[in-house]
Amino acid sequence: MASVQRLLLLSWSTLERALLQGLGLQQRLAPALVIQAPVDFPQPEAEPCDNDQSDTPSFLESILWMAAPKKRRTIEVNRCRRRDVRKLEKVKNNIEVCQGCGHLKLKHVLCAFCYQKVVHETALVRAQIRAQEGRPLNTPPVETVILYKEEKATEADEGKRIIERNRKRPSWFTVGS
Ligand SMILES: [Zn+2]
Repeated sequence: MASVQRLLLLSWSTLERALLQGLGLQQRLAPALVIQAPVDFPQPEAEPCDNDQSDTPSFLESILWMAAPKKRRTIEVNRCRRRDVRKLEKVKNNIEVCQGCGHLKLKHVLCAFCYQKVVHETALVRAQIRAQEGRPLNTPPVETVILYKEEKATEADEGKRIIERNRKRPSWFTVGS
């Protein structure tokens, strides 16, 4: 305890000397007592004022009033609005049967069932190319010809990259012109 007291005294004297030198003061400073009061320290009551409700708005006045319906709409009115003719699903007249597979499809849209076959065959062709050539950077910069079973390369195919598929040519996979 004595050592702590001695340390504090030494620190204070050092600080005081430095302050006196820095500020150019001659009189000595003394430590003052400082009390940190609690937040809810009792404050002296404000003097009663004549105009009490002048500046502080009341609780109701401080609320921002939102727009609110003034009358309840009946369920008939609500249903008439919800089931309006404009909100109903439109009847589609542009549906036809796919010539390839027989599924229903939109007239202006490719048949999804038929296109799925194209996607599958294309994936198989790509896998075969990857197995033959390895990395994609090995791809030769020439045109690609896909030959199916019982098909022979013509003279026009010379010099082109030829991929031979071990199956019959699908009906939808037409030869390019
Ligand atoms: Zn189809």
